[in-house]
Amino acid sequence: MSEREDLHDIRRAVQALCADFPGEYWREKDRERAYPGDFVDALTRAGFLAALIPEEFGGSGLKLDAAAVIMEEIQASGCNGASAHAQMYIMNTLLRYGSAGQKAQYLPGIASGELRLQAFGVSEPTSGTDTLSLRTVAVRDGDSYVVNGQKIWTSRVEHSDLMLLLARTTPRDQVKSKTEGLSIFLVDLREVQGKGLTIKLIRTMMNHSTTEVFFDDMRIPASSLIGEEGKGFRYILSGMNAERILIAAECVGDAKWFIQKATVYAKDRSVFSRPIGQNQGVQFPIARCYAQMRAAELMVHHAARVYDEGGNPGEEANMAKLLASEASWAAADMCVQTHGGFGFAEEYDVERKFREARLYTVAPISTNLILSYLAEHVLGLPRSY
Ligand SMILES: Cc1cc2nc3c(=O)[nH]c(=O)nc-3n(C[C@H](O)[C@H](O)[C@H](O)COP(=O)(O)OP(=O)(O)OC[C@H]3O[C@@H](n4cnc5c(N)ncnc54)[C@H](O)[C@@H]3O)c2cc1C
Repeated sequence: MSEREDLHDIRRAVQALCADFPGEYWREKDRERAYPGDFVDALTRAGFLAALIPEEFGGSGLKLDAAAVIMEEIQASGCNGASAHAQMYIMNTLLRYGSAGQKAQYLPGIASGELRLQAFGVSEPTSGTDTLSLRTVAVRDGDSYVVNGQKIWTSRVEHSDLMLLLARTTPRDQVKSKTEGLSIFLVDLREVQGKGLTIKLIRTMMNHSTTEVFFDDMRIPASSLIGEEGKGFRYILSGMNAERILIAAECVGDAKWFIQKATVYAKDRSVFSRPIGQNQGVQFPIARCYAQMRAAELMVHHAARVYDEGGNPGEEANMAKLLASEASWAAADMCVQTHGGFGFAEEYDVERKFREARLYTVAPISTNLILSYLAEHVLGLPRSY
């Protein structure tokens, strides 16, 4: 089936941009664990990161299917969209639940790239996946909230002007349901740097600019609250489907990169006087990964369509993320195997992409938690936790 012309044009435009950021660029950033600021600037200038922001606020007003194509193509070109993907989707919570004043104040700047909103503080060291047990608190004090606590894995916060923060505003034992009493804040990081906010970089196996963030009597204006106090968990849940579909699209892009790289290498590399790709033991794993990637790709498109038609794609978004992250990881492993020893050499980019692709069966939600969602909410099995 041929792709819609507008999506095809977006693919070509992303490919052209990514061609200016070849393997050497990413290798250097990876070696130095440096933020790829000029890549993110180029994506911003081209308007790709404002794809989902409505035109009235200066964005392109595109649908999720187009945003997914952008993210997929970045990965398929060998680049690393993790440096920028959150600028595309974190604003969703502001767009859906922010007041008219908040939207007018922030969205045009986010659309132009003048303001970066690409940090999302949810995960905490002690609660892990059990988000409802998070311990960061925001206590109302006159015209302010005073925030205390700690987040972990808050990615890109050092390269952000704004952060979306989830904190408890009513103690857990004072709410009827444990999903209540959590609130979402749009924190202006420029105002709180060094005033109750401390950021510590975490070195990880790939270049990801992720951090620990500490709040020590950090005072933020009460106007930072998004929507109603106590309803924050519901707000972030609704934004998670878009995030999962976009990450799944990235995984499909990664899988395409690994499959292409392995195919080219298997045709080219000659051992025992014939291309290694002539051996079924080499070609079958590549073909299997291709089939797995195509199946995941269909689910990503389907999930994006359900989202764009206004449905609730909880099931589809979760399945897209599950299948695509497994397809990309299988392709990563296959690509290393196809390259033999050269799969470990930096200059082939395979080992870098392998490390980068490993993340997505764990974050932003792990495979087990997706399986338990499907078991409980789709199949009606008893809740397991
Ligand atoms: C590089 C990186 C970037 C990240 N960026 C962000 C970010 O920007 N913002 C943010 O808020 N978070 C971020 N995260 C956090 C990420 O979302 C979490 O790491 C992920 O959701 C898993 O949570 P955890 O690490 O606390 O694992 P845990 O909750 O401790 O789980 C550990 C393992 O146990 C399994 N497990 C736990 N409970 C169950 C259960 N009931 N049934 C079956 N299995 C279970 C999990 O599947 C997992 O495999 C990032 C993480 C990483 C590594």
